[in-house]
Amino acid sequence: MILPKLTERTFEQGPIRPPSEAYSLLIRATRNCPWNRCQFCPVYRGQRFELRPTEDVIKDIDTAKAIADDIKQLAWKTGNGSRTREIAAAIYSQGQHDFSIRNVALWLWAGADCAFLQDANSLIMRTPDLVQVIAHLKKTFPELTRITSYARSKTAAKKSVEELMQLKEAGLSRLHIGLESGSDLVLTYMDKGVTAEEHIKGGRNVKAAGISLSEYIMPGLGGRKMTAQHATETAKVLNEIDPDYIRIRTLYVRQGMDLWSKIESGDFELQGEDEVVEEIGNIIEKLEVTSELKSDHILNMLPELEGKFPQAKQDCLASINRYLALSEKERLNFRLGRRAGFYEKLDDLYEAHRYQKVDQIMNRIAKETSGTVDDAIRQLMETFV
Ligand code: SF4
Repeated sequence: MILPKLTERTFEQGPIRPPSEAYSLLIRATRNCPWNRCQFCPVYRGQRFELRPTEDVIKDIDTAKAIADDIKQLAWKTGNGSRTREIAAAIYSQGQHDFSIRNVALWLWAGADCAFLQDANSLIMRTPDLVQVIAHLKKTFPELTRITSYARSKTAAKKSVEELMQLKEAGLSRLHIGLESGSDLVLTYMDKGVTAEEHIKGGRNVKAAGISLSEYIMPGLGGRKMTAQHATETAKVLNEIDPDYIRIRTLYVRQGMDLWSKIESGDFELQGEDEVVEEIGNIIEKLEVTSELKSDHILNMLPELEGKFPQAKQDCLASINRYLALSEKERLNFRLGRRAGFYEKLDDLYEAHRYQKVDQIMNRIAKETSGTVDDAIRQLMETFV
């Protein structure tokens, strides 16, 4: 489909959003991270945190609205309004526009019902300013059913429940918090800037305000030395909070990250992927929550570790045991096949044609390259972060 070019309009966007917000309208409420010291996080390194003037954020929302209107008008001009999604998909895939227009196009295509406020901790904004931004977003796009943002536990712990309730009232539906670990030992080592107690207080405040709470945990973050504390204390903190969602986001360290130098010096010992799976099992084993577990990050090896607890607990543990009971060769085959896109779930391993294809690749790596299959897996994972 050949489409006329839309009027170039642009609004600011930040670098990341949670996987579950892949189709959300992205509005940058603040720039970068006010903490910016976590050893495992390179996302905002070297970038100064800034509170954006509220009027600039509001202008961005208005620009997003103008873009959405342009796309809808184009749909009318090329047929009728019911073609909006089709036109939006074409605009997104043709790639002739910048990120702002493409984000609005993707959002319209996906149903235009969710928005995400970037960057790392927009909850740190003055509550009246954030209320103004959220209320304007809701007024401009009344069709939104979900407005979410990232937040730090420390900030959520400092806000009063009343303030959080004002945000909820304005339209904030969910906060995504990087809990990472419930162990003070691990949190201090990683310079996370928050304690287990603050995690609990922050999480409970969010829940008390009626805002949906999504807590990210990071398997592998304790390394070999702190894995026991990491698993036990993380489960303990989650049990205290009982968030709506627990999301798994496995540690991946690459050159250039602060943590890399600790690995090189031997101070931090990375776990192998199978050890991390075992660690996830140890966390799940200890969970006594009613949360929904999600494994929606591409770095996670077992995407099937999902479901509403406590009902899903046994199935998740069964999947982990099933994986760990595979032979070494089968586990290596699954790890490579999963990272190379041949497998989505463990069951896929039993489809002979997929298994054989991955097996052939493993043989080729052994014969034709100087590296190992593990090196190939690492190279594939480098592209995910
Ligand atoms: S608080 Fe979040 S965004 Fe900021 S450095 Fe830590 S992990 Fe990264």
